[in-house]
Amino acid sequence: MKKTFVTNEQLQEIVKEYPTPFHLYDEKGIRENARRLKEAFAWNKGFKEYFAVKATPNPFLLKILQEEGCGTDCSSMTELMLSEALGFDGSEIMFSSNATPADEFVKAREVNAIINLDDITHIDFLEKAAGIPETICCRFNPGGVFKISTSIMDNPGDAKYGFTKEQMFEGYKKLKDLGVKNFGIHSFLASNTVTNEYYPTLAKILFELAVELKEETGADIKFINLSGGVGIPYKPDQEGNDIKAIGEGVRKVYEEILVPAGMGDIAIYTELGRFMLGPYGCLVTTAIHEKHTHKEYIGLDASAVNLMRPAMYGAYHHITVMGKENQPCDHMYDVTGSLCENNDKFAIDRMLPKVDIGDLLVIHDTGAHGFAMGYNYNGKLKSAEVLLKEDGSTQLIRRAEKPEDYFATFDFCDILKDMKY
Ligand SMILES: *Cc1c(COP(=O)(O)O)cnc(C)c1O
Repeated sequence: MKKTFVTNEQLQEIVKEYPTPFHLYDEKGIRENARRLKEAFAWNKGFKEYFAVKATPNPFLLKILQEEGCGTDCSSMTELMLSEALGFDGSEIMFSSNATPADEFVKAREVNAIINLDDITHIDFLEKAAGIPETICCRFNPGGVFKISTSIMDNPGDAKYGFTKEQMFEGYKKLKDLGVKNFGIHSFLASNTVTNEYYPTLAKILFELAVELKEETGADIKFINLSGGVGIPYKPDQEGNDIKAIGEGVRKVYEEILVPAGMGDIAIYTELGRFMLGPYGCLVTTAIHEKHTHKEYIGLDASAVNLMRPAMYGAYHHITVMGKENQPCDHMYDVTGSLCENNDKFAIDRMLPKVDIGDLLVIHDTGAHGFAMGYNYNGKLKSAEVLLKEDGSTQLIRRAEKPEDYFATFDFCDILKDMKY
């Protein structure tokens, strides 16, 4: 059974201060998990997690991760700006972007971030836009399908990212000629994996490539970035990843491949998003309608604007009806938001206890790729974000949008000057 990190009693108090809907984050869970990751890779001297900012771009949460020793992985101008403002050193900022605008390369160079090139043509593009730095990383895409033993995990051959193998060799040689001294390799081959084998399997591919690249180009490879993709158990019957076992699995291939090749000083980097925060956030919402037509519906005060994954991917997010945790799930509902889009459903044919208007519903695992993917369709405003601190108190870490925010991009003209707020 999936449990909420907040009790019903706590939540009833919290909603007196913050009206629903809002995203709630669990500081204790975030810190403990970050420490487990660090511990699992403590065998590697240079290990560092660069949290994927796009998953949860909140400065308060980034600060917590920074205190736990994490850097950031950015893919846009604003993410670079956020990292800079939080005082991350350049060596703590990875810039893993694709189809990158020139001004973002300029900004990445300005903050001295580690640039992870997505394509061989970006070498010339970067040189022209901002110059080639001494340290650079190249993103690898092996093509084909990515398998773990016999099961197909994902389809890199269809993915827009990365250099081919031939381009990795050519690119490294070219970058070396342009004065690059320190190299990295990056790859992201499967998303939301719930198997301890993903990182070790990926690591083996990248470690073997590193040995070949060094032999053929003489490049000094300083780090290998295993990127994101370690998943979380969204469904109650799924077993979560064991990060300790994952760290050990990577260590095993490291000792098999890199150490004998005299490359035992390479640092391992990760760029996890979902694994770092996913389970430590939830969307708190209130049932405001029930509807009995061809199906049974519960209408919430949250919508896909607050959490897009179910609408976008048909993703499962577990729902707990607070105060009814121990009641039988003997009612079948579609749980919906208010958008004029029939895919605005948090759950379809979900068995839940009988839901009454006014019940608080907690939608689980929204700590990553939750708030961040939100949009403003139907003129709906984005919610607040609240931090449940280690001492049990709460802190507002993002206020809810107001109509003023929604209309702010018309502030240069008079046409809405009579708008009443
Ligand atoms: C999205 C992304 C990540 C994080 O992915 P998760 O699935 O959240 O772990 C890491 N690196 C890059 C380049 C990404 O685009």
